[in-house]
Amino acid sequence: MNVVAQATGPLLMLGAAGTGKTTLLAQAAADRLREGRPPALIFAASRQAASELRDRIVRACGQTMLAPRVLTIHAFCLELVRAFGHDEDAAPALLTAPEQEFRIRELLAGWQGRWPAELADAVGTRAFAAQIRAVLARARQLGLDPTDVVGLGEAAGEPGWSSLGHFMAEYLDVLDAEARLDYAELVHRARLLVERDDVRRAALQGVGAVYVDEWCELDPAQISLVHALIPEGFPLVASADPDTAIYRFRGAHPRAAAEFVRLFRTAGAPPAIEVLTTVWRQSAGQVAALAHLRRRLGAPALEGVEVGRAYRESRAEASGEIEVWTCPDEATQSRVIAGELRAAHLDQGMAWGDMAVLVRAGRRQIPMLARELSDAGIPVEVAGDEIGLAEELAVRPLLLALRVAGRGGAPDPDEAHRLLLSGWGGFDAVSIRRLGRRLRGADPDAVGVPADALIAQALGGLRDIPEGEDELTLRRDLLAAAAAIVRAGGRPEEALWALWSGTEWPQALRGEALAAGDASPRAHRDLDAVTALFALAADSVAPPGSEGVRWFLAEVTQQQIPADSQREAAVFGRGVRVLTAHRAKGHHWPFVVVAGAQEGIWPDVQRHGSVFDPLRLTSDLLGEGVSTRELVASERRLFLLACSRAEGRLLVTAVEGTEGEDDRPSRFVTELGRQVRTVATPEPRLHTLRALVADLRRTAQDAAASPALRSAAARRLAMLAEQRDPSGAPLAPDADPRRWWGLLEPTSWAAPARPGSLTLSPSRLHDILTCPRQYFLRREARADPPRGSATILGSVIHAVAERAGAGELTALSAEELLDEVWADIPFPAAWLSASERADADAAVERFLAWQKGHEHANLVGVEVPFDVRVELEGGPVTLRGTVDRLERTPSGDLRVIDFKTGRSTPTRDEVAAMPQIGVYQLAIEAGAFASVAPGASSAGASLVYLRHESTDGWPKEFRQPSLSEVPHLTQDPAELAHPTWVHHRVAEARDVLAAGRFEARPGPACRYCPVRSSCPASSGQVV
Ligand code: SF4
Repeated sequence: MNVVAQATGPLLMLGAAGTGKTTLLAQAAADRLREGRPPALIFAASRQAASELRDRIVRACGQTMLAPRVLTIHAFCLELVRAFGHDEDAAPALLTAPEQEFRIRELLAGWQGRWPAELADAVGTRAFAAQIRAVLARARQLGLDPTDVVGLGEAAGEPGWSSLGHFMAEYLDVLDAEARLDYAELVHRARLLVERDDVRRAALQGVGAVYVDEWCELDPAQISLVHALIPEGFPLVASADPDTAIYRFRGAHPRAAAEFVRLFRTAGAPPAIEVLTTVWRQSAGQVAALAHLRRRLGAPALEGVEVGRAYRESRAEASGEIEVWTCPDEATQSRVIAGELRAAHLDQGMAWGDMAVLVRAGRRQIPMLARELSDAGIPVEVAGDEIGLAEELAVRPLLLALRVAGRGGAPDPDEAHRLLLSGWGGFDAVSIRRLGRRLRGADPDAVGVPADALIAQALGGLRDIPEGEDELTLRRDLLAAAAAIVRAGGRPEEALWALWSGTEWPQALRGEALAAGDASPRAHRDLDAVTALFALAADSVAPPGSEGVRWFLAEVTQQQIPADSQREAAVFGRGVRVLTAHRAKGHHWPFVVVAGAQEGIWPDVQRHGSVFDPLRLTSDLLGEGVSTRELVASERRLFLLACSRAEGRLLVTAVEGTEGEDDRPSRFVTELGRQVRTVATPEPRLHTLRALVADLRRTAQDAAASPALRSAAARRLAMLAEQRDPSGAPLAPDADPRRWWGLLEPTSWAAPARPGSLTLSPSRLHDILTCPRQYFLRREARADPPRGSATILGSVIHAVAERAGAGELTALSAEELLDEVWADIPFPAAWLSASERADADAAVERFLAWQKGHEHANLVGVEVPFDVRVELEGGPVTLRGTVDRLERTPSGDLRVIDFKTGRSTPTRDEVAAMPQIGVYQLAIEAGAFASVAPGASSAGASLVYLRHESTDGWPKEFRQPSLSEVPHLTQDPAELAHPTWVHHRVAEARDVLAAGRFEARPGPACRYCPVRSSCPASSGQVV
């Protein structure tokens, strides 16, 4: 029996995820239509949920004569306001979230000086506007008017809140004059309207019942609206699962279920409550694991102990697995997930669209995960607004080229390098080196000019391009053409189109996308991103000319509000969905991976220094906001929701860092109570063409394999090597032995040997000794990715420390300096900028505390350069570099201090053997500072980690003993042959450079190695 269909008055339907609440609502609505009874008016939680519910009802109904009326509360409110709120010719228009924020920023610009002085710095920021938007929405959810907010601010003695109340009054007046409404105001107006009998009667005319799905996700204003709409005793059915109520930040609360019981009494009697206890899409193991989480949420806020107990006691009716895996790092985690998805698709025939990967932090986790899954050949679908458009790999070079064109078309060396190495540029590290040599050879005056500068000048039209360099010439002309469009007052999209359409890149991407090879998913993604960029450019209201380019670039790069409905709609169910847990509400898939469940990310309980916390606002006072405990509970509900999305297999993954690293699985992972499996490497599976080719190559060359097997592998390779895609390009180029590195003769080992004395800096030494191959590709072949925000941040903190160390900065001016440079650091997300800023402030503070403690030290200098020749067995080496800080000890010796801004700290043994700072000591011993400290020896070196605090509030400090204290670290005869271990390490690096052999040296550095994808040592490729 369908309890919903039988409801004759208010009914609260409680049930955990998967108990069939929405199904019952859909069936009851269909029954009504089929039986010719007055239809139900149904409120769904989102537009998409409404559309899906409508489809389900139509399917269950079996006929479509009468369209079921399913809509969101906002859509219902808009109908009411348009019908009853205004004259017809003044029907209000709705503001989207970005438009609302834009309007608020415009109004704030005219409000300079009208906020209390302590808020002056925050007023112009984007975060301030976003907070105002959230508070305005919250005030309307609570039914507060501007005067109420002013009053609350005055009562609490907080003039900022009173100013906000005045601002709200002006904001509402302006919007009213423009006949525009935001969502919160829309609900507020509709609620006032349904208090009128005529409106209420009209709204419910012909309606036999009202059904509300996801009652616990309604905010107070929406609950109040439904309460005002429904006459006493009217059939009203609300489905609720308080344990997965996740929109607390939008004003919803799990207590809404209890509120339903309080509000909808009939003749003094409480409404009926029906508890659904059978979970139809989970297995007993899954239900048991989720029950652990649910218990930790405390007693459910429900009327009556029995009801609460029944609600938590679910029975399982399905089969399915739940597994918890940890991996040593994020890259392995992505590969493991890719392997499991592919296996499910190929081995079990599961459609890609039947799988989903859920994460907590969209902008932080989705871009990398989606990219790595695409790279692994998994077709991935990400709603466009989950990833900032500017972060898409295909969009970056176009935006950079547009920026350069907007400035006249001449890139700087770094920009030229990034442009040419991108898909738009089409060059690789080797061809860029060749180009640099060619440009230098073509101009006798270019001797001494760095190759980067020559390339930038040529690309910018400031230097002739030698004959035959057609690719470079084409790109130079495209930049010039785009710059001319901008100069002539063209729109950004015209310049973008000239840049995009002028190369072979679009055709190449199209070809890859259609070829259905391993690169196809990635090419699809790139094309989608570029299409979205052009759609945004077409919709942009940026003015023409260079001002418009600046405007448009700011628009794209500052896209922070997830409300791009055009990109959100671009999800077709053909690939694996990668999405946030919030967005997964209302959906379920046969195979769900909850990925990246890390402590610090899930729960995310950081408070980001908000000036106005909307949750402080209550109906009658300015409260304390949400406690950390409540925040953790909200996050637990979200984790529970994510895990309950699986209707077959559930896999929860996290990174468990090795000793000394911060990564550890979320507490919620442990709370599932399942045995955790550690997966160090993905299971080898031959599910991609590339993996198959690699395996065949390995077998064909395996001396231990039988001749028959080797020959069979060779035959298959030959067959694969002949396969072509429709454009004639080889489908499996790596099957062709002519491309096998190991079979080609080495170019020559003799040529690169470098005569005479070599020069080494400490960082160069460190890189060579860590891995010669990585060193060569990154530093000599320049195959290094652009500097990320972490590296830039390190330099910024260093610069601040340097100026403070030189006595030029106070705490205040250090902060001002950080303010100045901050906006230019390319953080991948706004939240990261905020949290890194807090870290940077703390690091500078620690540095100042540390420096205060060293006020009486005998300071020789900060940023002291050195350049000294050291005689070594086998030939001299020049050591060149800069010491962060040099102090003289009471005995007259020199102590080196090196400031570090890394996130992890080394062990004592690692510090003792760090060649980078050993070199500073060696330089002292070799007399590098004789001019300032004649005859001084090294007194050891200190590493000061500014991001890490010791118990005394200072940064953590590690000491490397002096070379006289510890001349050798091992009993290795090779080391003992040198005066100290540092001599030995320098000689080793010198030998690598002199021999010109840069071999892969696998070790801990592989984990973050930017050239790992091509490394034979790491990938196990046959070479
Ligand atoms: S992956 Fe490891 S061995 Fe290979 S280049 Fe990088 S650091 Fe060297």
